[in-house]
Amino acid sequence: MDEQHYDVLIIGAGVSGIGMACHLKKSCPHKRFAILERRQSLGGTWDLFRYPGIRSDSDMFTFGYKFRPWSGGKVLADGASIKQYLAKTAREKGVDKHIHYGLAVKEANWSSEDKCWKLIAENAETGELETWTTNFLVGCTGYYDYDQGYMPDFPGEADFKGQIVHPQHWPEHLDYTGKKVVVIGSGATAITLVPTMAEDAGHVTMLQRSPSYLMPLPSTDEITLALQKVLPAKLSYKLTRSRNLFISRQLYKRSRKSPRAMRRLLLWIVKRELKGKVDMRHFTPNYNPWDQRLCVVKDGDLFKALKAGRASIKTDHIDRFTETGIRLRSGEELAADIIIPATGLNLQILGGIKPTLDGQDVVIKEKVLYKSVMVEGVPNAGVIIGYTNASWTLKVDIACKYLCRLINYMDNQQYKVATPEGAEGCRSEGTMMDSLGAGYVKRAADELPRQGTRGPWRTVQDYQRDSKVLCSDAIDDGYLAFQ
Ligand SMILES: Cc1cc2nc3c(=O)[nH]c(=O)nc-3n(C[C@H](O)[C@H](O)[C@H](O)COP(=O)(O)OP(=O)(O)OC[C@H]3O[C@@H](n4cnc5c(N)ncnc54)[C@H](O)[C@@H]3O)c2cc1C
Repeated sequence: MDEQHYDVLIIGAGVSGIGMACHLKKSCPHKRFAILERRQSLGGTWDLFRYPGIRSDSDMFTFGYKFRPWSGGKVLADGASIKQYLAKTAREKGVDKHIHYGLAVKEANWSSEDKCWKLIAENAETGELETWTTNFLVGCTGYYDYDQGYMPDFPGEADFKGQIVHPQHWPEHLDYTGKKVVVIGSGATAITLVPTMAEDAGHVTMLQRSPSYLMPLPSTDEITLALQKVLPAKLSYKLTRSRNLFISRQLYKRSRKSPRAMRRLLLWIVKRELKGKVDMRHFTPNYNPWDQRLCVVKDGDLFKALKAGRASIKTDHIDRFTETGIRLRSGEELAADIIIPATGLNLQILGGIKPTLDGQDVVIKEKVLYKSVMVEGVPNAGVIIGYTNASWTLKVDIACKYLCRLINYMDNQQYKVATPEGAEGCRSEGTMMDSLGAGYVKRAADELPRQGTRGPWRTVQDYQRDSKVLCSDAIDDGYLAFQ
């Protein structure tokens, strides 16, 4: 076995891992670090997902890192552009050469005696197991299982003679020109796929069990383009970012405070788009705004495809798959050459790694998070999970800043170990993601840490509050045990 030691090891080279590495380079320049990534390329989500039209649902001026402007006027960016932005950031900040590809971390054990983590990683090329050790571990593995998307058991699935394609496993050369396509789902992926595929397919039907809240958004921001002409890049980015942050916060806060008023507004916007050509029943959810993620419709493309008759929408339940398509509970049959179950993700944190402390399992579902960035009772380890009610990256930036502050504080005080402690009596029954009622969160209730009831144990989805807690509050707050 080949053993290598680093001051900091980061697992994952997506938005979070690249962000953490950039922060380390700037704020902890003397630390030796490496990123272990199981894929052969960086980008994470933006490397894995290749379905037609794949794009951000968040505006890029808050999805981009605070420290590196997202340039141009594109508000919603395609997957390839986001991956390119990440690759350029990694290159410019000199973190690309720290990435070790094709290494899937399988085990992580903390040794109290050695005061360090020992990782076992499988080399994809050779199949051999490698040992890596580190003083501080940062899990940047995202929030879902890369190997398998969520696929419910559809009765009669084996009878279907056409193709079934999951968006997470999109074949490189899928030809759907002129074909009849049924997309199952009503989340961001379905909302993106339907209008994009409708451009070339014979017809696309969106089949949903229940509607989602939709909001049309222009893909280009003319004000930002104008600002970029007269202001330095950093300043115009800062201004656009602050404005978009303000708007998205207000939207979320209003939705929580006055759900009925917000519901009326969102439904009115969609009604205006549809101009009476599609039944509003398909766009009227049975939950409140932001109980589940709001879906953005780029330049109203979904509404245009529906109005033009290139796509249609059904709200019904599946009775069974048949040889030629899908039979609905209403008795209606949907003919299909291709069925796309845009049915979501299997939630997973820590990339399937089951951490241990001196050989004892850490049971994540019994733990709460400290400042939503460390796990109760787990020494010298950060875990970066972004926001689900705002751009993921907003949280990444401040979580990375906090971990760098902690690492520097430990150095200055000559501490070797920091462990969040004292969460007794602060665990609730719900999970840390319980503010989101989405199916994938409910399915994963046994995988996720609990929600804390107070203090640093409570995970809030609030950038302003978290910014203070993570970037300004004292490191030594009485909840971290130092050695
Ligand atoms: C289709 C889709 C669209 C999305 N759109 C948005 C959006 O518009 N706005 C938004 O805020 N969020 C969005 N998200 C959430 C998105 O995942 C985050 O925005 C962000 O990209 C996550 O970055 P990450 O680095 O934390 O995780 P990921 O992008 O998931 O990257 C994790 C990395 O860790 C690696 N890894 C995992 N396990 C291991 C292991 N055991 N060993 C080694 N490496 C490992 C993976 O290979 C991957 O490269 C979207 C998600 C999906 C699936």
